[in-house]
Amino acid sequence: MKEDGRSTGQTETYAGNVLNTQVLVLNKSWIAVHITPARRALNLLYIGVARAVHPSDYSLFEFDDWIDLSQNGMPGRYVHTPNLRVRIPDVILLSHFNRFIRHEARFSRHNIFERDRHTCQYCGKPLPRSQLTIDHVVPQSRGGHDSWENLVVACMRCNVTKGNRTPDEAGMTLIRRPIRPAWLPRFGLRVPNEQLRVWRRFVDARAWGLGHPHEALSTVE
Ligand SMILES: [Zn+2]
Repeated sequence: MKEDGRSTGQTETYAGNVLNTQVLVLNKSWIAVHITPARRALNLLYIGVARAVHPSDYSLFEFDDWIDLSQNGMPGRYVHTPNLRVRIPDVILLSHFNRFIRHEARFSRHNIFERDRHTCQYCGKPLPRSQLTIDHVVPQSRGGHDSWENLVVACMRCNVTKGNRTPDEAGMTLIRRPIRPAWLPRFGLRVPNEQLRVWRRFVDARAWGLGHPHEALSTVE
């Protein structure tokens, strides 16, 4: 199969990279469980363990039907063979359970910094890691635990100002509620807006680190 970046639609992809672009994988219950390269997604379609999800009406397509549909000129990313072209699906749905295990972010200081993008969660200032601390939203002395929901990145100044108080008591507001991320931003993998638009139907964008279009994201090791 010849890799080719030509496309009929708004999504521009560099030639040769098309098969490495990302496809969202849903399990049988339509829950997002994975991101996989287009190469693998097409293989899963081909061997019949997944179906392609139509980007507009979310109807499902077996491989052969998807190939037929691909000849219609639907906008998107394509790979070309001598005789036909194949639209890279944005989303595929697994036909069986347990093909993928859900990746969860490992709880660690490092990943708290990653989740909060090295940005103080009180004043919103991005800073070098050496100038940041990790703050217990509810202080340990008040029963606050080490958890995704209770730890945030704070600059030294905000941490000292807050002291041994809750944000309410200190009159400080978190710029966003801390949650357990399903995926973490890393490496600089780009997701085009057009894909994000389709993916957002299925994923909690914030938990997946997809807060902003074209922002880096990746899976957790
Ligand atoms: Zn701060």
